[in-house]
Order: sequence, then C-alpha cells, then structure tokens
Amino acid sequence: METFDSKTLMKKFHLFFEEYKKSDIRKAVNEGYEALLVSFFDISEYDISLGDTILTYPEDSLRLMEETLKHFYEDVQTKPLRVRLTSLPSTEKLMIRNIRSEHLGKLVMIEGLVRRKTDVRPKLKHLEYLCTNPACSYSEEKLRVPQNEDKARVLKACPKCKSGVELVNKDLVDSQNLVMEEIPEQLENSSDQPKRMNVVLQNDLVSPFKDSKTNPGSRVYVIGIVKEIPIKTTSGSDSTNFDLLIDCNFIDLTEDDYSEIKISKEEEKQIKELAAKDDVVDILVKNMAPSIYGHNRIKEAVLLQLFGGSGALKGDGIKTRGDIHILLIGDPGAAKSQLLKSASKIAPKSMFVSGKSATGTGLTASVVKDDFTRGWALEAGAIVLANGGLCAIDELDKMSDEDTSAMHEALEQQTISVAKANIRATLRCETTVLGAANPKFGRFDPYGDISKQINFPPALLSRFDLIFILRDIPDKKKDDLIADHILQTHRDKSKTVTEIKPDFLKKYIAYTKSIKPVLTLDAIEKIKEFYVSIRNVAGDGEDVKSVPITARQLEAIVRLSEAYAKMKLDKRVSVEYAQKAIDLLLYCLQKIGVDPKTGQMDIDRITSGVTASTRNLYKTVQQIIDRLETQKPEINFEDICDEAEKINIARAEVQKTLDKLKQEGIIFEPRKNIYKKLL
Ligand code: ADP
Ligand code: MG
Repeated sequence: METFDSKTLMKKFHLFFEEYKKSDIRKAVNEGYEALLVSFFDISEYDISLGDTILTYPEDSLRLMEETLKHFYEDVQTKPLRVRLTSLPSTEKLMIRNIRSEHLGKLVMIEGLVRRKTDVRPKLKHLEYLCTNPACSYSEEKLRVPQNEDKARVLKACPKCKSGVELVNKDLVDSQNLVMEEIPEQLENSSDQPKRMNVVLQNDLVSPFKDSKTNPGSRVYVIGIVKEIPIKTTSGSDSTNFDLLIDCNFIDLTEDDYSEIKISKEEEKQIKELAAKDDVVDILVKNMAPSIYGHNRIKEAVLLQLFGGSGALKGDGIKTRGDIHILLIGDPGAAKSQLLKSASKIAPKSMFVSGKSATGTGLTASVVKDDFTRGWALEAGAIVLANGGLCAIDELDKMSDEDTSAMHEALEQQTISVAKANIRATLRCETTVLGAANPKFGRFDPYGDISKQINFPPALLSRFDLIFILRDIPDKKKDDLIADHILQTHRDKSKTVTEIKPDFLKKYIAYTKSIKPVLTLDAIEKIKEFYVSIRNVAGDGEDVKSVPITARQLEAIVRLSEAYAKMKLDKRVSVEYAQKAIDLLLYCLQKIGVDPKTGQMDIDRITSGVTASTRNLYKTVQQIIDRLETQKPEINFEDICDEAEKINIARAEVQKTLDKLKQEGIIFEPRKNIYKKLL
C-alpha cells in the first residue's frame, strides 16, 4: 500500500498537471471557472501509484492536488480552483444498498435517480481565531477550526497559552442536499424497494432549481467520499448510531438511453425475423401476460403503449407527445392490477405504484421540509422518477387532490411545475401512464357518468388516449373458460410459459426506441377521412351537436399508428397501420363513448360528463317551462309532463331533469310541484 508522503506526491501531481493539464488550467483561470475536471484514468495512466494513492487517501489527495494547482495561478487573483474527478474505475462503483462502514472515507461512485433536492443554504466551513496574548504565536498565525459536524465547534481559549481568543473570520460555503434513490431496473429483484442515500453538494456543485441536471427525476452518477454523521438522540446529544452520506466531488447526468439493455447480434436477428412476420401483433399479444385470460384488445393496446408513438417537435417549438396514456376502469377482480404488473415487467424502464402512494410524497412532485438542512426541498413522485419510461399507477382514483391537478399538466405537457415556499421549478416527466381505477360504487354502471364513477375530473379523463372498461359480468361460457384457465395455470406452471420471454420482449421494445416513424400521405388521408366522417355522422341533433371525437383522439390515432409501425420496425406509417389504429380506437370508443340512449358515439360523455341527448333533454324541458311561463303565472309538474308527453318524453325523465335543473339553480320549486324559472 502507498504511504502518504505529501512532498513527493505534490511533486508528482505537479508534473502531471504540468504535462497534461496546463492549458486546461489556464483556461479555467482565465474564464473564472471554479473547478478543474480531471479524469482518474488520466492520472493513473500517467502514474499508477498516484491513482492508488487517490483511492486510498481521497480526502488528503484531493486537498494536495488543489494545493499543487495553486502554483499554476499564483500570479492571478482568482478563486481557488477545485479538483473534480470525472471518472473512477468500475471497481469503485457501488449500489447504494452495498455501502457499508468499510467504505467510510473512501471514494465511491454511485448511480441513481435524484429523488429530492433542497434549496441552497450557506454552511459554516471554518472558524478562524487569533489569540489575545501578544506573546503567543497564535496572536499572529490564525487558528483554523474546521466545522464538519452539525453543531458548530467554537473555541473559548487558546489551546497553547489558555488566554482568550478573538473570532476573526467565518468561512461559509454554499451547500445543498440531494437524496438519491437506486434505479429500479438495476435492482436484481424487481420487488426490492430502492434504497436511498444523502449526497451533499458544495461550492460550485450547488445548482438552482432552474438547473435540470440535478433536479428531481434526473438520472445522475455521483463520485464522492463516504462520510458518517452521528444521529442525534431525542435529547439532542450524539448517539452511537451513525448515518451515511456522500460528500460529492463530481456529479453528472448519466446517458439517458437504453444502454442498460444489451442486445446481441443474434437477438437483433431474432427481433428482425419476428417483426417481419405478418401476424407479429397477434404473436406479441399471445405472449403478453399469458396467465391472464382474454382481454386481448387491452393487451394489444398496452403493447402499443410500450412501443409508443414518435412524438415531434413542431416548427413553432411546440412539442407533441409520443406517449400513449391508457386508463383501465373496471370492476374489482377483473385483472386490472395483474395487467399493470405484467406491463411494467415488459417495459424497458418502468415503475409500478399505487395512487395512494405509500411514500406520502404523492405521484407528481411536492415541496417538503428537509430534516437534514432544515430548509425546503423539492421531492419527485413516481411519475417524475419514471421519466422516459412507463409509470403503472394502480388505484389511480385514490390519488390526492394535489396530484389530480398536477396530473393534467403531467399527462399533456409532460412537465410538472411546482411553485411553493421559495421553490419554483419545472420538472420533466416524459412518462407514459398506464392507470387503473375502480368505480367508486364498487361496480361500473354503464349508464352513469364515467368521470363521476371514478371521481375524476372529465378534463383529466380526456387526456387518456384509450380508456377501457373491464366489466365482470357473469357469463356462463366465459366464466367456464376463465375458471379453466386460472385453475389449469395453478396446476401446471408450464401452461403459462411462452415462446417469447418477457426479457426478449423488453429488448424488442428497447430496440425500436430510436425509430421515429413518419406518416405517409396515404395514412394521413385515411385518418382525415375517418375523422371528418365520424364528426359529421353524429351531428344530427338540432340544437346540440354531439361531437363524437375531438382533436385529442385524432392525435391518439396518429400515435397508435406510429406504434404499430414501430412494432414492425417500419420507418413509414402506412395506411394499414392507420386502419389498425382506427379499429382499436373505435373498439375502445364503442365500449365507453357510446351514448346509451342514442347508440351514437359521443365523446362528450368523457369530456364533460353529460351526454348530448341528456343535454338535449335539459334544453327541451327548459323550453317547455319558458313557453308555459308566458301563459300562466304558476306552472305545476303536471303541466310540464303533459307538454313533454306530446314529444315523447316520459314522466320519469321529466322528474329527473327537473331535479337536475333545480340542483343547478336554473329553476326553483317555491311550493311542492310548482316550478319557476330563476330570472
Ligand atoms: P383488480 O385489480 O381488477 O381488482 P386483480 O388484477 O387483482 O383485479 O385480479 C384478481 C385476481 O383475479 C387475480 O389473481 C387474477 O389473476 C384473477 N383474474 C381475474 N380475471 C382474470 C382473467 N381474465 N384471467 C386470469 N385471471 C384473472
Ligand atoms: Mg387491483
């Protein structure tokens, strides 16, 4: 092992800097940088023993390097240059969960997601004193007291002559705290809870919330020294237990691609072969979640969601999302959670959470008090941490009100803005959402408003590209098949073994991530034709046009056709894919968007919670009241019913409509069964 001989080491570092870093140092000094980036590999290549020394005595080595650097800019007045090590050998790379006391004082590298970031606070670094006794040497040479602990260390008397001392200088640094969390796909066992670690950033490393590099949700790697801090007992004194933190030396974003997933040449060949098959969609559907019987259209939609659309940055700088959001609403026990789990297993990057969120930080983002710095901190929720991947959210109907409102922005703009306390930030969340919701009253009522049944604002509901209803209706034949399927799979595990392994599917999806299919003119024509025709079909009503689909669904079709193209490794979206997308959307709309009274498709049921025919009814009844009011001073219930009967509206409907109008304050009932219009 290397011993630490400052003089020799300083000489070696000096030579290294002289030879390799001279121009970098000049540049850093001239441009007023506060840090010099040095690669560990450059040092150890230059002199392997220097590398070993850095690993054995990181703190002292870094200090020595910074001292050495001073010789290079003695002539200029500038802030001291810090040394930042930009790389470390892979042997020093650790999982957060594997950091132990043996690593104390050592240089390590960890990779993770930034979960929480505090605001920047000044922190005491040194106190400097002079002795009041003129005879003592410390009356001229400053006494430096380093502050490494929570509690400030103050000096009462000179350690040499015991005379009084005077505080002459206070050295503060900017400090910021991050909480990092392990990356889910790096965990060996997908059911493991990711572990967390505190990371302290100081000086030039601190960054405002504008800086997205270290904002919550980013994937970063950190090189730093492991340190311990005593955990305070309840009475405020130090306990014998310690907490770990990493004193950061360097932090940077990791490449945000799918590099974790290695695809061999052989696998690439297999992917191409599979994609070339005519029935690739059916094959994939068959191999997705084989333990779940049926739900083939849903499986197909979820697969498309995993492939995703192209997304585009338009000429005017507006970004359209390529992510396809899907919501499953259904009766309990309809395999919703199972579908979500299997989707998150196949997705190359994914997170599975429950809307109620066990962590208390919610799904989106929140501003919390940080125990460590006692300041405010911004903490990311699952949907931000899943940036660039899939977030499967179970029990979505149970999310908090704050999350519900933040979700609007998250789903469409794919950002989350936070403005609370002194924290203002916009976090990126290019996340695909697969949600599941249970109806509020236990079972789904096909005639009721969807948005009321799952306690969701209609505007939020409209942000999902596809909404599926899973109903659990007793059906002898189907029940037989499901029961057989479930019982068989319990008896014989091999029944659910598929020819395509989830791992391969994951690689297949990752492989297509770089493909951005473009619509062909034919496909555009096809989609347009469909859009125009369906918007006209339903517009028969005289007063209220029921708008069957909106521009949102139009975009959904585009995204779905792009996803079909990706599945086929096709760079062009042909008519065939557009047709498939239209079919899928129609299937889904028929299940929910169809107005049960007219049989017509009506997207208003989703977006405003009221169907066009109901709205028509409101209008008609109001018109009757208007007409009657010109004839009589008082209108009673029977009069209205008589009029309504003439145009085939049943008494029960009239009663329901009147109650509704009363609720909304359009009419009132001064006496029983007597109605009047409010103004
Ligand atoms: P939900 O989340 O919709 O309430 P779950 O996903 O928890 O329901 O499913 C409940 C159980 O019923 C699971 O064990 C699931 O395997 C089973 N189940 C329900 N529907 C099916 C189906 N179509 N095929 C196979 N198993 C099913
Ligand atoms: Mg469930």
